[in-house]
Amino acid sequence: GRASPPLAALSHVLRLERSRRTGIVFPLQKLERYLAPGTDTARFRLFQPGLAALQRAEALFRSDRGHPIDYVSSAVRMDHAPPPALPDVCFIGRSNVGKSSLIRALFSLAPEVEVRVSKTPGHTKKMNFFKVGKYFTLVDMPGYGYRAPQDFVEMVEAYLQERHNLKRTFLLVDGVVGLQKTDNIAVEMLEEFGIPYVMVLTKIDRVSRGVLLKNVLEIQEFVKENTQGCFPQLFLVSSVEFSGVHLLRCFVAHVTGNLPTVEAS
Ligand code: GDP
Repeated sequence: GRASPPLAALSHVLRLERSRRTGIVFPLQKLERYLAPGTDTARFRLFQPGLAALQRAEALFRSDRGHPIDYVSSAVRMDHAPPPALPDVCFIGRSNVGKSSLIRALFSLAPEVEVRVSKTPGHTKKMNFFKVGKYFTLVDMPGYGYRAPQDFVEMVEAYLQERHNLKRTFLLVDGVVGLQKTDNIAVEMLEEFGIPYVMVLTKIDRVSRGVLLKNVLEIQEFVKENTQGCFPQLFLVSSVEFSGVHLLRCFVAHVTGNLPTVEAS
């Protein structure tokens, strides 16, 4: 198989000096020191696992013979989806938001996993199912955009409404441009269905700290004022530098019921 990228494993991150390590494992916390004094940061630390929990989560994402991680199937309709035997988590976002890169980063310790991309215009958009041993299924939903065809909207809506084993939806937002109109459409849909979701800000390595802070604060405020079903803590990730990927693995493990106790760091 392919070699995994340098900071894909916690053991590598732990060798970094403290401040870089915090930036990789807890990117949101790293930003705190640049906020105006008095800014309420309680929502920055709701999910803050310790090393033991991070390590247990990592083990779930590391494949071996007794613990296969694999692409299972693709579906364009709900009746083609695999049986809902395991808890699901699904990833949605605008085309180009960095969804395939993030899923590849999450699965970087299972290098045999192929994260397929179908970006050819006109190519049928599908839901892709990945099975993580006997623990959970990760679903890569087709990217949406301003020209999402009706059958695509219907597929995503049907999945979100009917999939009773869906534990959490991860809504990816582009860290370079922040929350866009099309993202609001997704938020409205998730709110209407009343299903739990969480926002993930991608590509955080591509923006200056100032822009990142602005986007983070805007989203946290938006979530606070306009949502019911969204987890109040925003997750920040860079699939290039691996920031936030370990924390996200841990959150996935937690929401799928595979990490019942998460002791604080
Ligand atoms: P998708 O359409 O949502 O699956 O998006 P991709 O994962 O294909 O990413 C879209 C573009 O953004 C590609 O050119 C990626 O290389 C780039 N990209 C994705 N994630 C990151 C990231 O974390 N950092 C940087 N710098 N670029 C990224």
